[in-house]
Amino acid sequence: MFPETAAIHAGYEADPFTRAVAVPIYQTVSYGFDSAEHASALFNLEVEGHRYGRISNPTTSVLERRIAVLEGGREAVCVSSGQAAMYFAVMNLVEPGRNIVSVPQLYGTTHTLFSHMLPNSGVTTRFAENGSPEAVSAQINADTRAIYCETVGNPAGNITDIGAIAEIAHSHHIPLVVDNTVATPILCRPIEYGADIVVHSLTKFLGGHGTILGGAVVDAGNFAWEDEAERFPMFNLPDPSYHGLIYHQHFGRGAYLGRLRSVYLRTIGATLAPLSAFLLLQGIETVAVRVDRHVENAGQVARFLRDDPRVAWVNYAGFGDSPYFPLAQRYLGGRVPSLLTFGVAGGYEAGVRFYDALKLIRRVVNLGDSKSLACHPASTTHRQMSTQEQLSAGIMPETIRLSIGIEHIDDIIEDLDQALTAAFSSTTLDTSVEAVP
Ligand SMILES: *Cc1c(COP(=O)(O)O)cnc(C)c1O
Repeated sequence: MFPETAAIHAGYEADPFTRAVAVPIYQTVSYGFDSAEHASALFNLEVEGHRYGRISNPTTSVLERRIAVLEGGREAVCVSSGQAAMYFAVMNLVEPGRNIVSVPQLYGTTHTLFSHMLPNSGVTTRFAENGSPEAVSAQINADTRAIYCETVGNPAGNITDIGAIAEIAHSHHIPLVVDNTVATPILCRPIEYGADIVVHSLTKFLGGHGTILGGAVVDAGNFAWEDEAERFPMFNLPDPSYHGLIYHQHFGRGAYLGRLRSVYLRTIGATLAPLSAFLLLQGIETVAVRVDRHVENAGQVARFLRDDPRVAWVNYAGFGDSPYFPLAQRYLGGRVPSLLTFGVAGGYEAGVRFYDALKLIRRVVNLGDSKSLACHPASTTHRQMSTQEQLSAGIMPETIRLSIGIEHIDDIIEDLDQALTAAFSSTTLDTSVEAVP
């Protein structure tokens, strides 16, 4: 199935009991057991079935199968937010004293998770300056257990050379984890380029309407955990927290997500609500047509801004002079996501005036909504970072991040135009600033 078709059909045929064509919402916490013997077989993972709503739910299972198919993965586990997905995905690979290597161009909260939260569990993050394959390679040492990147960095808009980084990861016998939130499987399927684990915030383009939080971890099923018993003992030695289960023995190539569900989802419980799973399935049905319009509108906005003298710079990988243009051709087929950043001429002050003057475009920190959205990262999503950290994440003080929606393009451009006019009316602002990110 092509992604357009999988988005509508994968993972569900018809409810066996009612023949309902839409996926039913199984709004239940518990599932009945036939007998004590049946219950213990379920808890021993000897038979398949649902036990308790924190661990699994039939509505969520459909969403998990659909996302796995969309990404070309073996299977997926859904959780309550993107952040829970990132946290579980990484913690499932590391023990105290180990490290991960990450590109620095990350979603702000992921950066905080890696630089401040993981060290509390004895796990450090070695950031590869500028995110190039060479910089990633230089940060790997004997204790590295995973490499982490975003297909398209939020908000830097950089495009990661996933194929080159996957090769480096595999030459060190460690997996590559890729956050594919901004690209979506409609524009890029990282597993095709060697990614082992794909993580998502479903909150953005996949849900698509700014109404539901959710996250997913997808396993390609390609990494041979059994060949790396010393590096990844968690999949190869008995787990005392699960009556001595050996995940690789039990789940085979499904060991990674088998453990993620049995250990992290079960004991920490960042569980996706069944109603959220249903709403996310609704959103995913239209993701391919929405992304088409997002991409088309963003290209028009990027060109409008580039040609306007009131704008100092535009960072958009669809421009031939962008350093990411070749990678956009290779990994996105030249179709750049509707996330772009720019700086108003006149720097920080004019940028704030522009931001405050927006009428149609909403001032929020979200992205991937059908509505056009604008964010000022330095004061919001990346507020917790030092100026130096902000710069290495690709953020200047005046940077405005746009997530271009699917409204009529003329209405979007009219709003940008009037806000630029407002930014420069009745002022003697210095427009000579020519910052380049
Ligand atoms: C939003 C986002 C996240 C976090 O997802 P939540 O669902 O808000 O927890 C992680 N990574 C990227 C790239 C994001 O855009």
